[in-house]
Formats: sequence, structure tokens, C-alpha cells
Amino acid sequence: MASQGKTNKAAVYANPGTTEIKVVELEIPEPGPGQVLVRLTHSGVCRSDLAVCKNAWTYLRYPTPPNQVGGHEGIGKVVSTGADVDSNMIGKRVGIKWIKSTCGECEFCLASLDASCPSLTVSGYYTPGTFQQYCLAAANYVTPIPENMASETAAPLLCGGMTVWSALKKADVKPDQWVAIPGAGGGLGHLAIQFVKNSKKGKVIAIDDGTKEEFCRKLGADAFLDFRKYSDEELADAVKTATGGPGAHVVLVTTSSQKSYDQAIGLLRPGGKMVCVGIPEGQETPIKGVVASHIATKQKQVIGSAVGSLAETAECLAAAGRGEAKVEVSVLKLEKLGEIFRDMEEGKLQGRVVLDLS
Ligand SMILES: [Zn+2]
Ligand SMILES: [Zn+2]
Repeated sequence: MASQGKTNKAAVYANPGTTEIKVVELEIPEPGPGQVLVRLTHSGVCRSDLAVCKNAWTYLRYPTPPNQVGGHEGIGKVVSTGADVDSNMIGKRVGIKWIKSTCGECEFCLASLDASCPSLTVSGYYTPGTFQQYCLAAANYVTPIPENMASETAAPLLCGGMTVWSALKKADVKPDQWVAIPGAGGGLGHLAIQFVKNSKKGKVIAIDDGTKEEFCRKLGADAFLDFRKYSDEELADAVKTATGGPGAHVVLVTTSSQKSYDQAIGLLRPGGKMVCVGIPEGQETPIKGVVASHIATKQKQVIGSAVGSLAETAECLAAAGRGEAKVEVSVLKLEKLGEIFRDMEEGKLQGRVVLDLS
């Protein structure tokens, strides 16, 4: 086969629970029935990778195994196909996502709730992910990448982009509505600002560390609030002032911070919707303020959204292709993954980091 005699460089989580990364040579796998082998050139680095590497999500049933290959925003060309897969896929550029495969036929798959499929596999958690040069994928679940799109900027749309795309769709954001985005300067947030402004024609209150104000404003945020400067009550007041009185129509929580969740309900106007996207790390607690009397009398909604479906990924790529979102990336070598995770932990990253796997 095409890959013979070549090596597969991979970054593995050497000691899950820490950010220790080892770069190793692995065997190039052979595609089985229904699979394709992809020679990856790029992979985005998502906060979820850090959470898996550090065993930070207490809700996951099993700890991450040592030497797990992480990663779930991978792009490259198909180099071989398994039995029963159309060999015309060879040479096509495709993307590999957080969900690596689903059954495609359960009630959740059919309702576009792919992440709730009971038979799903996850890229970079018990299934080798995209922090490697050669990666297997389900032929019917890879995402074709539009020709006019560079791989490094398309990669972050495969998780960060389509996740916020799906969340904004579930919130049914209407033109001129106010969307508050905690974590607005991050990988998800910076794309959410642009989709709200350019695709939904809404208005954005970006909430993040003050160092990200210029970045968020450049992307179109109408207002910026440095969360470090406010108590919970002051932050709610500031959001109300920015919206001319009643508060945000939608709060899209893109951070993995419990504090952002605890503040979110207070930022909403009556009838407003809070969309839960980021997953807090460490010990989890119920979201503050989500009590029956308040939710009932203020007619608020709490909505969950986990990544997005195959169809929503295609919609997100098409929107970005029309210029509705520009991905801000820094391209770094695979060997830098440990450093990237440490910067991510400290909240230092702006936009998305993408690994060059060529
Ligand atoms: Zn992700
Ligand atoms: Zn299913």
C-alpha cells in the first residue's frame, strides 16, 4: 500500500493527568471495512484535548489510557480505503472530528443529535486521534473540505466552529438580538462572535480577560467586558446596561469555567436562553441560579449542545467559505503540543493553535 516504508509520527499523552507529551513513531494502521486512512497535514488543538490529557473531566467514565493519541480537528488526504469503501475517495481532502463514528440509524443520529448516539466513538479518547500523521476514520463520517479553503484554517471549524454553529442554531438567534459570550476570545468564542455578527446579524457582548479586548472588538464585538473587573452582580448589571436595560437574549457559554456558568442565568433577560457548550473541569456543581421559580417566572431556557452533527459541520464550512467567519490561527509544530497545553491552561491563547503535521 501507499504508506509502506513510511513512518507515522505521533504525539501521545505519556502520563494522563499531567500535560506530559511524548513524540513517538507509531505503525501506520491499515483501514478496515468502512474505514479510510488519512495522511493528515494539520490538526487543531482544542480545550477538550487538554481536558482528556489531564483527566480533568470528572464526568467521563474512564480515565484516559497512557499513550493515547489525542486530537480531533484533523485534515488531510485519503491515501487508502478499506474493503467496501469507494476507492474514488483516495486523494480527497477530508476532515476528522471529535465524533469519529456513529451508528447513523438510531433516533439521536436521525435527529441530528450525533453526540448522543449510544455507539459513538470519540477521536482522541480510546480511539487514536489526529495528533499524528496517519489516522483512520469512518468513510461515512469524514467531512469533505471545500477546495477553496486552506487546511490550517479549515481545521478549527471541524470542532470549535461547528460546535458554536450548532449551539447558535439551537438558540435560534434572531437579527438584532444580543448574545453574550463568556470566553469570547478563545477558540470557540472568536468564531461565535463572527457567526453571530455575520451569519445571524445579531449583536455581541464579548466577555473575557481584558488582554483579549482588542482581538474581540476587531472581530466585531459590539461591547467587551473584562470579567476580572466585576463581581457577579456587577457583571449582570454591565450586560443589562450594554443591552439597554433587560439583559442578553442568549448567553453562549464557551468556557470550561464553572464561574461562567454560575454567572450566566443572571445575564439573561426574561425569555432568554442559556446555551451550555463548554464543560467545566474538576469537581462539578449544579449551575447557580437555575432554580424552578426563577426559570418559570422569568421564562428562561437552559439548552445543552454537544459539538454538532455531520450536516451542521458542512453548513459551518459553507458559511466560513462565504466569508462569514475567518479563523485566527497560529501554526506550530507537533513537538510544541505540551507547551500549547500549558499556555491554554493559563488562558494565554487567542484564537486557535493548529499543528503542522507535514
Ligand atoms: Zn474540540
Ligand atoms: Zn446512532
